[in-house]
Amino acid sequence: MTAFVFNEINFDHHEQVVFASEEKSGLKAIIAVHNTNLGPAMGGCRMWNYASEAEAVRDVLRLSRGMTYKNAVAGLPIGGGKSVIIGNPKTDKTPALFEALGEALERLGGRYVTAEDVGTSPADMAYVAGKTKYVAGLGDRGDPSPFTALGCFVGAQAAVKHQFGRDDMDGLVVALQGLGHVGFDYARRLKEAGAKLIVSDIDEGALKRAKDELGAEVVGTDAIYDVAAEIYAPCALGATVNPDTLKRLKAKIIAGAANNQLSTPEMGIACRNQGILYAPDFVINAGGIIKVCYEYLNTPEDGMDAHVRRIGETLAEVFARADAEGLPTSVIADRVAEAKFKR
Ligand code: NAD
Repeated sequence: MTAFVFNEINFDHHEQVVFASEEKSGLKAIIAVHNTNLGPAMGGCRMWNYASEAEAVRDVLRLSRGMTYKNAVAGLPIGGGKSVIIGNPKTDKTPALFEALGEALERLGGRYVTAEDVGTSPADMAYVAGKTKYVAGLGDRGDPSPFTALGCFVGAQAAVKHQFGRDDMDGLVVALQGLGHVGFDYARRLKEAGAKLIVSDIDEGALKRAKDELGAEVVGTDAIYDVAAEIYAPCALGATVNPDTLKRLKAKIIAGAANNQLSTPEMGIACRNQGILYAPDFVINAGGIIKVCYEYLNTPEDGMDAHVRRIGETLAEVFARADAEGLPTSVIADRVAEAKFKR
């Protein structure tokens, strides 16, 4: 193999990258352990029909590195890792495939702990669990999404306080994209706090529910970038903060659950220059991993709600430091993470 793995931009000193395969099940997986300074690497297993192996490598390295930063900022005693299975999640899933993944994790001896992610489910993880104990979020103790929504809500409160000097959300308009597991619950909390909702989704059922239960105004999937709102809350797709949308957004706060919201790191600078307060995605959306980590480590859950709510305090510190140092919030969030996990 050529040195394309080491040269990848997101390789960034990964401790270990394992290519795992198994003949009978046809498993082809890549397990990336970015950093274990704070504890075993934890991050989900994605199953995707990658166009090439190089694309799968790029994806797993990017996601694994991101988990180190997310877990560190969230104050969790775990490092960052991720795995991908190359295959079509609609047609290629078998119990044997996930059992083979479990055997591969067992060989790593606990350096990496997996969970569900895009293309995999708690049911798939149950097969993994048949072969290894290094798997979390089996679904028997509930969906992590409500905790992600709670983190987003306290993050939005911190942003409103910093940007508008307000402790309440009365009458603030939130343009919320994506009413899925996280987005709907986040929308409900915003509504209860007095915000007005303008929402978009591709799912008509979700839109009807938001209209009926939350009194939300519905707009088209592209029109969401043009509406008059104080907060833009991306809860569906990545890269929706890009040169095109930044020209159109009226919001002065970006606070949503989606991963990888900035299309490029430069968008962090662009937000700052435009007077938009961006709540870095990996800080604000960590509620779910906090929940999964508590479960996996059998940490008593009475402190979990407070832990998720600390996302608001962490963001307040990131915002204040960004102003003091004249830097994008995204850069400050990276530095906060690095101070915790780098030796
Ligand atoms: P989900 O699949 O339940 O919801 C996504 C929603 O977005 C769906 O309702 C879907 O119809 C909608 N959608 C898809 N394309 C759209 C478009 N073009 N415009 C508007 N809406 C569109 O996912 P989720 O679990 O709610 O996660 C939402 C986002 O938050 C994802 O980016 C996910 O990676 C991220 N995230 C989720 C968690 C979690 O705990 N679930 C944790 C961290 C990050």
